[in-house]
Formats: sequence, structure tokens, C-alpha cells
Amino acid sequence: MRLTRREALGLIGLGAAAAVFPKGAIIRTVLKGYTPEELAGGATLFHEHMSLAADFMPRWMQFARETRAANAVRSGQPAAPPGYFMRDVGLMADEMSAAKTDGIACIVDGGHPDMGRDIDFLRQISRRSGLPIVAGAGFYAQPFYPKEISTWSEQQILDALLKQVDAEPAGAFGEIGSWDEITADERKVFRAVGRAHVQTNLPIFTHTGIPGKSAMEQLDLLESVGVDPRHVAIGHLGNLVDPEVKVQKAICKRGAFVGFDRQGGPGDAQQVPMAMALLEAGYADNLMFSADLSNVAQTRYGGGPGYAKALTVFVPKLKAAGAGEQVLHGIMVDNPRRFLAFVPKKPRSA
Ligand SMILES: [Zn+2]
Repeated sequence: MRLTRREALGLIGLGAAAAVFPKGAIIRTVLKGYTPEELAGGATLFHEHMSLAADFMPRWMQFARETRAANAVRSGQPAAPPGYFMRDVGLMADEMSAAKTDGIACIVDGGHPDMGRDIDFLRQISRRSGLPIVAGAGFYAQPFYPKEISTWSEQQILDALLKQVDAEPAGAFGEIGSWDEITADERKVFRAVGRAHVQTNLPIFTHTGIPGKSAMEQLDLLESVGVDPRHVAIGHLGNLVDPEVKVQKAICKRGAFVGFDRQGGPGDAQQVPMAMALLEAGYADNLMFSADLSNVAQTRYGGGPGYAKALTVFVPKLKAAGAGEQVLHGIMVDNPRRFLAFVPKKPRSA
């Protein structure tokens, strides 16, 4: 029997074993720990934002403009900053309810204290909507670090990270970033985060500067301190446009996840063929999709497709390109649960 390309892609996921989780593994949300099986009823979005400081995006845009100018890269200006929608409990609870209706079972917030993330806000919108939310922890990227970080030793950063995840119920370290080419401070933070993972088992997801800058070095740094790549997602690699997906494949080959995590928008057209190339290369188990939603225009309230857009907008485009239902189910439902599930090393004291 000779399979068409479409049929062959549809079968890629069939041979894969159903997700198996280590004994005692949980997915830690802001309200409670779930067994991974409890969240199998829908997709999990591994990198979104529901709680950022009101001045976070304006600062982000400012730093991005400066970085672009410094790199002499010509690019259109991003949309206007979002204002305060991430401080409105009612609005955001409605957004979470809509995502749940769209098929989302769990959603990860990629913020942490240096981005103005408010864990009580996440608790409130999770409680009101009934959508489980995983909170991140860590330090974001050079322009956002607390001033002291350059004077802190790796050990002091590690201590600060452990304090964060003891004080607040974080379910992951993320997003952990290098803003442009990775800096000395960022290398120090990556090593400290890797060591914090080794002490806690919390998974790690990252932010790379456009286009996927320092992606391999991020993984090198984490592995250098003993992190198993299966607990790492290298993020924003849809931005690294390459029909041969060389860097993405290299990361998959080492066992880490590749994040195509700004999906459900204009970038999709370039990223569908890249995602298909990774599926054809046999890396369906290493892909995760999300949207990194951070702008009010993308919300339902703002007239956009809403938080579920990686599932409702991007996934249908892959289906149209020939990806099988089962493969896509694996990517949206199983991969993020395998990524997030961890066996806590010790109970949290807070
Ligand atoms: Zn993000």
C-alpha cells in the first residue's frame, strides 16, 4: 500500500504510545495540583499572558524599538499598548470562560514578578471561569531584570528563584528569556534556573529574541547544569523562519520541545510549512503551540479571536495542510501535559 503524503502525516501520531506520566506527577495550577489525566479533556496552552503590569507592554515596545534600531533592522511598528485589560478581573474571567468553551483545558501564564504578574489576579480569574491556570516564575530578560541582578552571584539568583516558587504556587519556570544576543547576566540566570529545576523538577520554557536568537545556547546552558531537555521548551521559534527548520530540528533531536507560540495571526502563513516539515521529520512529540497573547486587540473583548486562537485559528491551518487529527490532538493535549507534569521534590512551605 502506498500512502499519500496526507495519509502518512495522519499516521505519524498513531504509533506513539499514549502519554505516560511518572508516578506522583502533577500539573501545579494557582489553585491546586491536578493529575495530568484530569486535564486530558482539552488543549493546554503553554505560553500566554493574563497578568502583566500596565506598563509592561509599553516598556517592551520601547526596548524592542531600541533593540531593532541597534540591530539596524527595519520593521513596522507593533500595535499600540494594551492599557489595563489585564487588571480587569471580570473581563479576563470572561476571556478564560470563552477559551474554555473553545476547548482549552488548562492555560499557562508566562509572567512572573518582574513582569508585574499578580498571582491573586490569576487565582480570581481561574476561580471565576473554572479554567485551571498555571503560573510561571523566574526572571524575564535583561531589560526587565531587577537592578541588583548584575551584582548577584548565580547562587544568589538560585536562592531568589527558590524563594519565589516557595512563596507562590508556580507550575513552571518561564518565560525565561534572552532579549537579543544572550548577555552575561542572562547566561547567569539561565544556569540558575537550570539549577532551580534540578532542585524542584519544575519545567522550564524560554523566550528567544527575534529571530530565535541564542536558542541553542539556551539549551546548552540548561543542559550544562544537569537539566534533562525533555523538561525544556525553547520558545518563539516560529520567529526563526527557515524552510529547512535546522535549529528547530536540532532542538527536537536533543529531546526538548520547540515552541511555536505566537500563533493564530499573520505569522501563521510562514509557520505552517515549518511545523509540517517538523512533523514529516518525525518530531510530532516535540512541538507545542500557543499564542503568547499580550495585546487587547487579540482578546474577544477587543474584537479578536481570543486566548484559544492557537487552537481555533492555527490548528485548522495545519489540518488544511494535511496534519492528521491524532497528531494535532497529541500536540495540543498530550505534549503540554507531558511538559508540565512534574514530581514535586518537596512540599511547598507557603
Ligand atoms: Zn510571553
